Amino acid sequence: MSDIDTEQLIEEQVYKAFTRVLEGEERKEGVHISNLKYDCLRMGYYSLTRERRYDLEGMLRMGFGTLIHEFELAPNSQHEKPLDEDLNEDGWRGIYGTPDEYWQGIVIDKKTTTNPPDKSMRHHHRKQVEMYGAILDDLGYSPIGGAIVYIDLSTPQIIVKDFPLGDVDFDAIREEIIDKKTTLDMCLEVDSPPERNISFLCQYCDFVKQCFWDDVEDDIDG
Ligand code: SF4
Repeated sequence: MSDIDTEQLIEEQVYKAFTRVLEGEERKEGVHISNLKYDCLRMGYYSLTRERRYDLEGMLRMGFGTLIHEFELAPNSQHEKPLDEDLNEDGWRGIYGTPDEYWQGIVIDKKTTTNPPDKSMRHHHRKQVEMYGAILDDLGYSPIGGAIVYIDLSTPQIIVKDFPLGDVDFDAIREEIIDKKTTLDMCLEVDSPPERNISFLCQYCDFVKQCFWDDVEDDIDG
């Protein structure tokens, strides 16, 4: 047997391979719907200003998620295109967003996970789809429903949570989008995060350390 730790070697190679997959993702500058979907806007602020660091498990989840997004789930759907096709370079009122798929009036969003929701979909996942719906409506489409496709990598299994968009108040959603964007722009300009909105989401938040450590650092710096 050689001294080479095969497991570690392979883990490092896998990590590097998925790093390349993630780096290959084109991402437009600016504020995206994904920065605005949470009730905690501070999370959106951090996702725009802080680098995420993943361990191997997180990297695998993100990498598989990116690869799965390449596949079209619904036949002949508009795949990662509806908003971008119609938006000019400044986005929809300065905001970018790309629904994963738009098919026969249904806004489809895919989520890879190892912890799928057992009963209803997650609030911020639904909100993201409602936001896409409100923008599509403004652009002259006629969105009628949303579907969140949870791809559970642990089992594996696919769980679809669908819901109608007919009763959603798109005007209120559009107002929420613009309000959040305005607040986020102000915070980005002065380089200061928005208020915390502490909830159960904090335990899953990628930025929990920065969120609570930044204030401590400021106190230390005096
Ligand atoms: S840790 Fe909680 S309060 Fe802080 S950014 Fe994340 S979700 Fe918001």
